[in-house]
Amino acid sequence: MLVVMRQSASGEDVRKVVERIEEMGWEAKPIPGEERTAIGVLRNPGQTDPAMFLDIPGVREVIPVSKPYKLVSREMQPDNTTITLGDGEVVIGGERLVVMAGPCAVESEGQAMAIAHEVKRAGALLFRGGAFKPRSSPYSFQGLGEKGLEILAKVREETGLFIITEATDHEVCDMVEEYTDIIQIGTRNMQNYRLLRRAGQARKPVLLKRGMSATLDELFMAAEYIMSEGNSQVILCERGIRTFVRHSRNTLDLNAIPYIKRESHLPVVVDPSHAAGRRDQVIPLARAAAAVGAHGLLVEVHNDPDRAMSDGPQSLYPEQFVEMMEGIRGMNVLV
Ligand code: PEP
Ligand code: MN
Repeated sequence: MLVVMRQSASGEDVRKVVERIEEMGWEAKPIPGEERTAIGVLRNPGQTDPAMFLDIPGVREVIPVSKPYKLVSREMQPDNTTITLGDGEVVIGGERLVVMAGPCAVESEGQAMAIAHEVKRAGALLFRGGAFKPRSSPYSFQGLGEKGLEILAKVREETGLFIITEATDHEVCDMVEEYTDIIQIGTRNMQNYRLLRRAGQARKPVLLKRGMSATLDELFMAAEYIMSEGNSQVILCERGIRTFVRHSRNTLDLNAIPYIKRESHLPVVVDPSHAAGRRDQVIPLARAAAAVGAHGLLVEVHNDPDRAMSDGPQSLYPEQFVEMMEGIRGMNVLV
């Protein structure tokens, strides 16, 4: 339920609404907007009588929120959420398409630094690279752990690129939060509710990848877990879903982008690399994602993909990444 205030409502009026909500033992979430302030009512069981707010001065209307996800929904917050890094050098969810690029995994300082310089020159604003890798096989490279995070911090220092890296479980989240600018939650963890709650307590933005077989409602509910712990800095990521096809690793669900933008105020980015699983499809999918209105791209790039320790076949060569960036700029998309 959403209590919408008149434009003329005072801070005192808003406070009275919050008090009434809290008297009931529920949670109040004031949402200041461009047009008006609204107060979200959370943790209220079942049907609530709108009349209990209508006598408070400044209240314009009370709107029931029909969706199971509240904080994530555009019903609750009509204005887009934007996520700002640094002193505003990067804004995700605004007019510009933000490109995050780098290897699947951080393998060494030399590898990370070389790729970081390449992607920066081509126009990426964030460097991606896993220090903790959730691999399908226990025998595959699992990442460098904290050493990988230290390398990422050096990359930021030397290149000025912001960092995004994955927290694979609750235990490593503290460490990842300390080093990174954006915490990534991977597809396999989209419904790891303990990790989602922990990410909700983080003071860093969270990029939440859609589970490989998750509906968008499930994605929204996962984001709701993060937001319900107080972290409103959430970015959603479409990275391809499991289908019956064999011509790609996954199927990029481009329909999801306009749907997410309609249902939610959160920014949405696309990962064409994990959707494709093969590099020849990555550039066309990146262009398609830009065309359907994604706020950003998360792309794997490697300087020696044949010897990459993970996801080599889907990693772009640096020169292909340059081509991808030029292609997007050619579409008149602000990059
Ligand atoms: C990754 O970004 O390297 C990754 C493991 O992605 P996903 O969780 O989408 O498989
Ligand atoms: Mn990968």
